[in-house]
Amino acid sequence: MPQPPDHALIHKPASLRPDPNLADYAQTAAQFRWEDAAKLLDGLPGGAGLNIAYEAVDRHLAHGRGDKVALRWLGRNGERSELSYAKLAQASNRFANVLHSLGVQPGEGVFLLLGRLPQLYVALLGALKARCVVTPLFSAFGPEPIATRAEMGDARVLVTTPELYQRKVQGLRQRLPGLQHVIVVGEAPAGDASVHSWAALLDAANPEYTIAPTDPETVSLLHFTSGTTGRPKGAMHVHAAVLAHAVTGRYALDLHDDDVYWCTADPGWVTGTSYGIIAPLVCGVTNVVVEAEFDAQSWYGVLASEHVTVWYTAPTAIRMMMKLGAEALQGYDLSALRFMASVGEPLNPEAVLWGQQAFGLPFHDNWWQTETGGIMIANYAAMDIKPGSMGKPLPGITAAIVQRDSSGLRLIDTPDTDGELALKVPWPSMMRGYLHEDERYRKCFVDGWYLTGDLARRDADGYYWFVGRADDVIKSSGHLIGPFEVESALLEHPAVAEAGVIGIPDPMAGEVVKAFVALKPGFVADETLRSELLGHARKRLGAAVAPKQIEFRNNLPKTRSGKIMRRLLKARELGLPEGDLSTLESDEK
Ligand code: ATP
Ligand code: MG
Repeated sequence: MPQPPDHALIHKPASLRPDPNLADYAQTAAQFRWEDAAKLLDGLPGGAGLNIAYEAVDRHLAHGRGDKVALRWLGRNGERSELSYAKLAQASNRFANVLHSLGVQPGEGVFLLLGRLPQLYVALLGALKARCVVTPLFSAFGPEPIATRAEMGDARVLVTTPELYQRKVQGLRQRLPGLQHVIVVGEAPAGDASVHSWAALLDAANPEYTIAPTDPETVSLLHFTSGTTGRPKGAMHVHAAVLAHAVTGRYALDLHDDDVYWCTADPGWVTGTSYGIIAPLVCGVTNVVVEAEFDAQSWYGVLASEHVTVWYTAPTAIRMMMKLGAEALQGYDLSALRFMASVGEPLNPEAVLWGQQAFGLPFHDNWWQTETGGIMIANYAAMDIKPGSMGKPLPGITAAIVQRDSSGLRLIDTPDTDGELALKVPWPSMMRGYLHEDERYRKCFVDGWYLTGDLARRDADGYYWFVGRADDVIKSSGHLIGPFEVESALLEHPAVAEAGVIGIPDPMAGEVVKAFVALKPGFVADETLRSELLGHARKRLGAAVAPKQIEFRNNLPKTRSGKIMRRLLKARELGLPEGDLSTLESDEK
């Protein structure tokens, strides 16, 4: 097996201001106790438990920070609006009161099908105050993914726009008898008493609200996984998760209350909720919300005009920026920016180094899952980066590389050995179940460890390296090949913008590697380039691991959270059923 890419360490930049307690990673990690994390938070007044929305919003009022801007919204058409922590507290109080006035009970499902509008943030926080179970959906979902999720999660209330309602939801109402109320941000269509106008309800509601005692184990969010490997699972989270958001916001993203922070993820993906709403607000930052989708030029504009200091994005966006080249950054004053992080897919070493070259800052890769609720492994503020590594476990998190066998789990201590990534339970943001899939949930745990389904290795310095998803690993002539290292090697070639790698059956080798490649502008997909790429990969990886075939495409099929859907490339290649495509976004041959 080839060794991890041999890039030099990137030393932590002086622009970081990690918690002084974290200056010594090893010491902090060893001393950290989750009970101590509670000190970062207040708990509900009177010892009435822990509520995410209280910690994210109202707590700041109690500390004299009510006038500070909590949300700064940049609309698609150049609109701009701001909500202070005090205003956000009032608006979410109103929404909690609206839910009460509609007879919605704690524990019932509130679904959000909104683009990144301020109302999405208000509704999510208000519903958490009312102890409802919130599920944000991608507004780009079609009717079928909306219906299956709303059915599964027993949606009682849906917040959406009049347009989305008419186009996608109205025709589903028969299928969703439990959906009693729809609240539209805009004018409600006449003639249906169950469809209400947001403004009418909110204006009439009381801006005062007392959050009822909230047991930390109360279910807070139902989040569906990205659907990269199959049908999405509904991961259920609880209010206690806010402890992990407070800790990881500080330690993995280096958030301080004078930061201007921007997370590019949509709340339809767990990143856009945990780190697009909860963690930044808990840390008291000004949270920038951008309604529009990705466009490199306008993103650079946002970073510059808003003086964003901490930025959290994903490899797919970084690769698109790389495709355009660092020149596109010219003329933007990004001097406020001091920390950049990435999640969702492996971050190729090329991308980390490109950050350094283009922004003067490396991207800090971090790893987690919908199931884990928060960042688990990160190149975090207080440590040096090894480009291509996901970093080290956060304080409070114990990770291991394991192998399963009939007698249970075997922990692999030998450095640089591939195995499944496992995390020792519990931690506060861990899912408490897969909705309606108890058996599947139980199967994730063996001997007190949660098995992630991802393969990784740990090096002698304790850094973790992603190898691939267990489902995606390719077995070729006795080698186990992780798609990530093959894709990373292809990405080193100046012509390659994106690469996705699968195994295809081969009579001799069992499987051989096939790569799908999208090119940067200005490169021609011809036989010369194909042989050049095959040669480059062979030189870089060795003949056993390098792709045998390359197919050029305009782009690769991806989930709405920006992940390459290798299983779809494979199903098509093998002529198998395509499976659940509810989260498929781009797919241009
Ligand atoms: P599904 O579980 O429905 O197949 P998914 O696993 O893509 O979809 P998410 O929970 O959004 O759904 O993604 C978590 C997965 O994303 C991880 O298990 C891992 O495979 C991948 N991932 C996330 N961050 C990283 C990272 N920094 N490096 C490598 N892989 C990552
Ligand atoms: Mg998964």
